Amino acid sequence: MNSNKKMSIRDAITINQRAFKMLFKMYPKMIIYRFAAVIFSALAPYVEIYLSALVINELAGERDAGRLKNLVLITLLSTAIIALAGAILNKLKNVYSAGIWYKLDNIYIQKILDTDYVNLDNTETSDLLYRLYQNNNSGGWGLSRVCTYYESLFSALFTVLGGVALTVSLFTKKVDGSSALDFLNSPLFVIIMIAIMLAVTFISPALYNKSNGYWAKHSDTMNLSNRLFGFFGYMGSKKDIAADVRIYEQEKICEKHNCDKYDTFCSKGSLAKLGRGPIGLYSAASEAVSVMFTGIVYAFVCLKALGGAFGLGSVTQYIASVTKVSTGISKLVAYFGTMYENALFLVPVFDFLDIPDNMYQGTLTVEKRRDRKYEIEFRNVSFKYPGSENYSLKNVNMKFEIGKRLAVVGMNGSGKTTFIKLLCRLYDPTEGEILLSGIDIRKYNYAEYMSIFSIVFQDFNLFAFKLSENVASKVNYDKERVSESLVKAGFSDRLSEMPNGIDTFLYKDLDKNGVDVSGGEAQKIAIARALYKDSPFLILDEPTAALDPIAEAEIYSKLGEIVEDRTAIYISHRLSSCKFCDEICVFHEGAVIQKGTHESLVSDKDGKYYELWNAQAQYYTV
Ligand code: ADP
Repeated sequence: MNSNKKMSIRDAITINQRAFKMLFKMYPKMIIYRFAAVIFSALAPYVEIYLSALVINELAGERDAGRLKNLVLITLLSTAIIALAGAILNKLKNVYSAGIWYKLDNIYIQKILDTDYVNLDNTETSDLLYRLYQNNNSGGWGLSRVCTYYESLFSALFTVLGGVALTVSLFTKKVDGSSALDFLNSPLFVIIMIAIMLAVTFISPALYNKSNGYWAKHSDTMNLSNRLFGFFGYMGSKKDIAADVRIYEQEKICEKHNCDKYDTFCSKGSLAKLGRGPIGLYSAASEAVSVMFTGIVYAFVCLKALGGAFGLGSVTQYIASVTKVSTGISKLVAYFGTMYENALFLVPVFDFLDIPDNMYQGTLTVEKRRDRKYEIEFRNVSFKYPGSENYSLKNVNMKFEIGKRLAVVGMNGSGKTTFIKLLCRLYDPTEGEILLSGIDIRKYNYAEYMSIFSIVFQDFNLFAFKLSENVASKVNYDKERVSESLVKAGFSDRLSEMPNGIDTFLYKDLDKNGVDVSGGEAQKIAIARALYKDSPFLILDEPTAALDPIAEAEIYSKLGEIVEDRTAIYISHRLSSCKFCDEICVFHEGAVIQKGTHESLVSDKDGKYYELWNAQAQYYTV
């Protein structure tokens, strides 16, 4: 992000308000308790300041034992109540703020999960997401900061209000008119005094903001160093690249990147330079100015007390409350500054959250058919990827024969995966329509529509959960069906070797006894997962790509058994995998150029299928 960009104060307030409202809407209790806790802790000290001033005044004045006793009792009691109420509020605040990082993260995760798939394809989406995580990780900028400074602004505001209430009498109480100090009574002097105090009060945070602004201004440098560190800083601990790192002494490259001019974390880095320069100077000046302020207050309050305007107890009260008003105002200005700086970092947050979702979401339910006879038809479907000039699919017409096995073959880039993505409504056709039981699939509720498909994508993912949880994709599942699905997918030999059977954890992330599985075994588990879902359509995208020839032959010999009465669609560029299918569609440059059985296609010597078959024949083992 261009963090040198400027934003008007009004826009900064608007975007902050939007962020705050969004957080409030999502987590109202958290916000309410956090605010209650800060307002309470802003006001509570004044009770103590006020009461102890009364006690001291009594001690320094008439010393009435009865009054003194009552005052001490009230002071003790109120201190106890305040401590108790403060603790309760803090507890509530902590309870409702638990997992705040997850709560904030959840906002982005929900968006990513719910957004149109087409948006995930757009590099702008991942760029935005990456940037807002970077801003958060490197300087705590963005959404996570909103809560904190709103709280601090409120805390500061109530500190100022409470302090002003206890300070007004400092200016109204007069010194003895006959004393040499009676100039302190002059309204002009009072105005000058207030003006000086306010000026100093504003100068200190202004200097602080100036210093802080350098952090925001250099966030790009920090993000870059963070990225470099994130990549190079942990190379030594990454097991999968340890061998390469050792053999090619790549740690030297890491050293160069971690300690070179980009590095924020070492003394030669550009930020260290800023720290020694303007950041350090401005924050030191800010401190110095606030110390000067304390000096002025002491002088003014003590002189008034000397002139007889008030007693000793009030001296402590005024000094404490004026100082608090001043720090309150300083904080108001400072946090306003942070709020302003942060507004720029909220821009990518809302750019991301506002990415439009334009896909039509239908409401029709999919009729649950026991006979699984769902008819799907592609009618003149053409498709261009967003931002692409070329058609990836052109005029595709196809009707799936229920309960049959259809193979989609073709060279890389011929449109096979795109065809499946359209079938699963990850994208909508640019032209034409896809129909389920004669109705455009856009009109169905998406979750319902998807329930009729089980898909094994080529780049499927398994998780570090139990084998059974991977297969069932659920916490509560039918163990017997899990085992059956694994056996059908050809995983039975490996399953019998597993220490805890289907309860064995995959990988070692969550359980030290977890097992690693080979690419082929993982693919079988993914097939078992698709079988467990038991949908009427089974789609296998290059289902045997990671299998060795023997495992591949094993899967294909069992295809009929695996598929049962489902309609199955295989995508492959290995033709040998498909010759068992009832129908084969040959894709070429986005169009279906041939259809038929293996025998009929291979006998057409002028056809693409024949050409592909001969080109691959030398590799076939089955
Ligand atoms: P296959 O699965 O047969 O290898 P694809 O369906 O993946 O082919 O690709 C078909 C065409 O669409 C190719 O020309 C490919 O470059 C293009 N394509 C695939 N994915 C995208 C995408 N996300 N954006 C733009 N073009 C794409």
